[in-house]
Amino acid sequence: MILDRLDLKNTLEKLKELRVKLVGVQLPDGLKYWTQEIVKKIEKEGYTVIVSGKPSYGSCDLDTSLIEVVDVLLHFAHPPVLKHENVVYVDYSIEYNVPKLVDIVFKYLPESVSLIATSPYVKKLEDVRYELEKKGIDTYIKKGGRTGIDGLVLGCNFKAVDKNAKSILFIGDGSFHPKGAAIYTQKEVYAISPLEGKVRMFGKKDIEKFLKNRYSLIGKAMDSKKFCVAVSSKPGQKRFKLALNIYRKLKKRYCTTLIYFDEFMPENFSCDCFVNTACPRIAYDDWKKFRKPIITPQEVEILLKERDWNDYIMDEIDEIN
Ligand code: SF4
Repeated sequence: MILDRLDLKNTLEKLKELRVKLVGVQLPDGLKYWTQEIVKKIEKEGYTVIVSGKPSYGSCDLDTSLIEVVDVLLHFAHPPVLKHENVVYVDYSIEYNVPKLVDIVFKYLPESVSLIATSPYVKKLEDVRYELEKKGIDTYIKKGGRTGIDGLVLGCNFKAVDKNAKSILFIGDGSFHPKGAAIYTQKEVYAISPLEGKVRMFGKKDIEKFLKNRYSLIGKAMDSKKFCVAVSSKPGQKRFKLALNIYRKLKKRYCTTLIYFDEFMPENFSCDCFVNTACPRIAYDDWKKFRKPIITPQEVEILLKERDWNDYIMDEIDEIN
């Protein structure tokens, strides 16, 4: 049951301690279906609840306008990347059988791995390490960027990946994070989803395909005459200094406009090419949805010949400035 994965017990205790009355609730799209059930549980304790109708892509994406009208905002199912005195993060964790998972995956692994996971699975990484080491595999778990949580990778930060290991073991769903870890390290990444119990490998072919796409987008950017540099209004994605810096550099050679946005809608503008300084997944994941090329800050460096094509690096958010 999805609701059992939410830590509502500790959340309600926290609300009691805070002595608040008006509570904001912000849910990711995948949990919005259960809004009424979640709200009922909070209202039962005597609170008045207002639900955010905005999308919630990550905890970098706090509903700041709702925070202004409630006593406290409950932000569900994302790890805390931003500290805010009026925000309580509600943990979402998925239970899984660690020995069974390790039995499925260990035969694929070399003698040392860097162990990483997305947030619903990260709590059990120490147990996974214990089981892997019992089978003779040296296992490294490194502190994640933005959250400080051991082994946690975000779509915008791969600092938790230890490049010294022979390969990477990723626990989670989807292909964005393992592919990102492969590009980040240039090593093979074994991915297992505890829900499916299947192992997938990401390596050389995926890296090459990714780079081919990115080089083709940079090629289109090179033919562009009008650029838009997009800067997000979302608190944990707002890289304003970076956007301003790119805007000033591009402005010397091209017609360039700086755009401040909430929801990214490039089709409404007449630019030939967009530079994305918000969530890096907009450029990496969403580019197919749009007719215009969307490139990253590091790809602008390639465009301006400040960086070599062979020195390609992923866009990451570490600190917001
Ligand atoms: S910037 Fe993107 S990847 Fe990073 S926490 Fe926010 S939504 Fe997630």
